[in-house]
Amino acid sequence: MASGIQLMEKVLFRVAKKWIAGDTIDDALSSAKDAYKNGRHAIVNKLGEYHKSKNQIKKIVSEYQKITESFREWKIRGAISVKPTQIGLSISQKECLRNLTTIVEIAKRAHVFVWLDMESADHTDETIELYNTFFSRYERVGIALQANLKRTEDDLRDLINMGAKIRLVKGAYKENSKMAFKSKEDVDKNYIKLMRRLFKESNEFGIASHDSKIIKKAIQLSKKYPKKFEFQMLKGIRDELKPELIKKKFVVSDYIPYGTNWLPYSFRRIKERKRNILLLGSSLLQSNRV
Ligand SMILES: Cc1cc2nc3c(=O)[nH]c(=O)nc-3n(C[C@H](O)[C@H](O)[C@H](O)COP(=O)(O)OP(=O)(O)OC[C@H]3O[C@@H](n4cnc5c(N)ncnc54)[C@H](O)[C@@H]3O)c2cc1C
Repeated sequence: MASGIQLMEKVLFRVAKKWIAGDTIDDALSSAKDAYKNGRHAIVNKLGEYHKSKNQIKKIVSEYQKITESFREWKIRGAISVKPTQIGLSISQKECLRNLTTIVEIAKRAHVFVWLDMESADHTDETIELYNTFFSRYERVGIALQANLKRTEDDLRDLINMGAKIRLVKGAYKENSKMAFKSKEDVDKNYIKLMRRLFKESNEFGIASHDSKIIKKAIQLSKKYPKKFEFQMLKGIRDELKPELIKKKFVVSDYIPYGTNWLPYSFRRIKERKRNILLLGSSLLQSNRV
């Protein structure tokens, strides 16, 4: 008999699977291929974070290698997005540097873009340091910056000055009020301020948001400051809007996570939106019926 936890996990997975490609590399590549068929680019991410086992990390690095080398064969316009703590930052910066070197060298050979995801605020400095190291070696490396952090205005300025490729996000991690804006209103205000700066002073960046207000503002700014940029959204979110943007000739990328470690990612998505909690509730009710 399935335990309560197993049942809960089954229900959660039913909700989560619209955001996740599946367990395997082939699932990720198929999902990226679907995105491509629909006119979108793909950013593939292996789920999982805070790894400390060198064996596990080695496996992740080789999966990123396989994905990077498969894009051409699968005819996908793809990038990868890596979380520093999944490739060694939870062991040491040196370990992460070593693994990122392998990933970036493979990506360079395959002409694939590498994004560095930004994790919680205790890793911001180290992630920016890693970025600085790699950007001088390979220019197709980008970094995510979080509009909920008060420090981001300074980080953005410094990174723009060195010509960095930036993905602007609102921020998915719970931070304290000393270092972060807490209300949606303040985060949105800061996002728009930083986004304006990207349009004015930068080139080749990602506007990663599902928020209609932000997207509308980005479209307005793009008319005033024609820059190379893309909208980036998570797989399975705002799918009704993506074709509209493509029709208007904007580039849209789908961020496609895959892997068995889907629980923390799914919780972050569920918390982002009241309707997702309702979706989870109705799935629970349905599962009680069968
Ligand atoms: C491509 C991409 C990469 C990201 N990388 C990082 C990263 O490296 N580090 C990091 O901290 N965060 C990252 N995030 C997550 C980000 O920080 C936010 O947590 C997330 O995008 C929700 O913020 P929002 O801009 O969509 O606006 P919100 O204010 O959360 O939402 C605005 C509106 O968007 C829609 N929406 C938002 N979320 C959902 C959802 N889950 N389901 C359905 N509709 C939704 C709703 O209509 C909602 O009202 C990334 C997000 C994207 C899209």
